Amino acid sequence: MVFKSSTMNINFKDSLAYLTFKELEKYEFIKHAYSSRLGGVSKGIFKSLNLSFSCGDERELVDQNYDIFCSSLGIKKNMIAAAGQVHGNTVACVSKKDLNLSSTGFTCFENTDALITNEPGVVLATYHADCLAVYMMDPKKRIVGLAHAGWRGTVKKIACKLAEKFVSVYGSSKNNIICGLGPCIGSCCFEVSQSVLEEFKALKIPETYIPFSDKEKKLKIDLKEVNKNLLLEFGLNEENIFKSDVCTMCSKDLLFSHRATNGKRGTNGSFIYILN
Ligand SMILES: [Zn+2]
Repeated sequence: MVFKSSTMNINFKDSLAYLTFKELEKYEFIKHAYSSRLGGVSKGIFKSLNLSFSCGDERELVDQNYDIFCSSLGIKKNMIAAAGQVHGNTVACVSKKDLNLSSTGFTCFENTDALITNEPGVVLATYHADCLAVYMMDPKKRIVGLAHAGWRGTVKKIACKLAEKFVSVYGSSKNNIICGLGPCIGSCCFEVSQSVLEEFKALKIPETYIPFSDKEKKLKIDLKEVNKNLLLEFGLNEENIFKSDVCTMCSKDLLFSHRATNGKRGTNGSFIYILN
């Protein structure tokens, strides 16, 4: 398997592999990762590092996948604050006291699609299989955030809701917020229906914010570009927003993709946390 990207690195630890943004690696107060399919124990359509308990995989194998992944990152499973995603725009502010540290499992935040914390010892996690992962941080105030943004979350402006919490709850300046967008299904592959396109148009943002191509008589949306432009409109600086060039559907052997498999798949995990 050949991995080609100008924006992300692939990191190997034994047979496990995960992706990181080159630009975010420069910030030493955080660690972040986007898990790949490689290095787990799940079989068949979940092969091999499936991190979702709710897509039909055997619980015991998913538990083992977490053990493998967590030990590679040097974290414990009970440090994970996991988003219980519903394609909404609710952001949870997470403290260590919100985690069930007496459990061996992670703590799930129900009805939540984005998480934010300023505490070391809290590992934020969202789950993806084509939907966009939005990594966010403020190196000045030492805050990290993560959002799950499919097309529904995108039109509900989940990325801006997360950025807004940086400012309103944690006192960030918009100028200091750094953002990594991706991986997700790319504009190469994300064909949408006319009705989905209408939802994007209803954002009342300039049409140029909705790049789509109909040269093959197909409507295609660039989720990263839409989110980037929504964040620019919110007030983030363009030089602080980094887009991944990795498409989950084009990389279906490396990453789980919903569309590439007609939904028969496992789930990738996004993680970000502040180091002690
Ligand atoms: Zn693609």
